[in-house]
Amino acid sequence: MGVVVQKYGGSSVSDAAAVKRVAQRIVRTVQAGNQVCVVVSAMGDTTDELLDLAEQITPTPPGRELDMLLTAGERISMAVLAMAIANLGHEARSFTGSQAGVITDSSHGRARIIDVTPGRIRTAMDEGAIAIVAGFQGVSQDTKDITTLGRGGSDTTAVALAAALDADVCEIYTDVDGVFTADPRIVHSARRLGAVTYEEMLELAASGAKILHLRCVEYARRYGIPVHVRSSFSDRPGTTVAGSIDDLPEADMEQAIIAGVAHDRSEAKITVVGVPDVPGKAAAIFNEVARAGVNIDMIVQNVSQAQTGLTDVSFTLPKTDGAMAMNVLQVAQSTIGFARLQYDDQIGKVSLVGAGMRSHPGVSATFFGALAEAGVNIDVISTSEIRISVVTHADKVDTAVRAVHTAFELDADQVEAVVYGGTGR
Ligand code: ASP
Ligand code: MG
Repeated sequence: MGVVVQKYGGSSVSDAAAVKRVAQRIVRTVQAGNQVCVVVSAMGDTTDELLDLAEQITPTPPGRELDMLLTAGERISMAVLAMAIANLGHEARSFTGSQAGVITDSSHGRARIIDVTPGRIRTAMDEGAIAIVAGFQGVSQDTKDITTLGRGGSDTTAVALAAALDADVCEIYTDVDGVFTADPRIVHSARRLGAVTYEEMLELAASGAKILHLRCVEYARRYGIPVHVRSSFSDRPGTTVAGSIDDLPEADMEQAIIAGVAHDRSEAKITVVGVPDVPGKAAAIFNEVARAGVNIDMIVQNVSQAQTGLTDVSFTLPKTDGAMAMNVLQVAQSTIGFARLQYDDQIGKVSLVGAGMRSHPGVSATFFGALAEAGVNIDVISTSEIRISVVTHADKVDTAVRAVHTAFELDADQVEAVVYGGTGR
């Protein structure tokens, strides 16, 4: 008997009919002889609606209460899904994250899982019931308060439970047929990847591909859990996320140079203008930003002007942290001694990811050539071993993604990508 963890995203359980359809799929998995633990997201756009509600009350809700509010979304879906399964004659028991043993740190809104103690889940499964767990939530080890793992966090709940239950596979059900070479909402000719390595998926997720939560991929890689991403609306094969780039045979690397093109519109750029070009200034700037708990992404420093001895430092960060970072830097302006700050939230990042890049010369040339031909102006560039990213104007992101996708011959002859659901919120 296999142990299967299945996660259903919000668009897969968007209304009563969808919940019933998912219940049938779960029952089929049980009838095939598996023990099943299911993780659910909130129905449809519930989480966004709850956030809108909080916003109408106050622009700065206490983190503890916001988490309490948001976890209600997943409690609704877990209960109705358990009812739908009961209707089909099978026993299902729903559990909150806390009841399922998802123990986290205490940072509200972005808690990290410290431990998973799924005693009640295991008991339920051993007694022949289907366990349904509310995704994206846990309980703080220190404060015992309810926490959430950050937007999209149900994927991480699923992989963490799969690891703790020693599951054979973690299936992530969504509204597209797997991981594609680009977002099918932008590139209609995007191609489905049959398989992708953990490292490539990490880079894609970190570069804005929303198909999997970044922390879910980190977790899966650390515990060697194969993740199978597929649609809950079809029976198509999906994408398997497993294996390391270091284990790829040379021949494979020749074939699949590029895994895909990702884009991200969630970042902003801060430029610190007129920074004295002396040791310690970069440290001072990024110390301030770090103390505010802001994660930065790309950094560039311009060559300083010989006459002035001043330079400009730019960095990108999540838009949601923009105001906070601007504030702390403003306060430190006289101590650091820079001239002024600029804030730009009309930016987008486009990234090319692929393990084969390591052994293929000319990838950057093709990438920049495609952007130039499409009239896309590049603002910032950064690279890793298997990724090249550029920052450009937000309006140019779609054009850039399509141009790069075509330049690397990733377009499928026939449209493969079906977007079955979701409002894209
Ligand atoms: N419901 C949460 C969200 O929309 C968590 C999730 O869907 O994974 O972000
Ligand atoms: Mg959701």
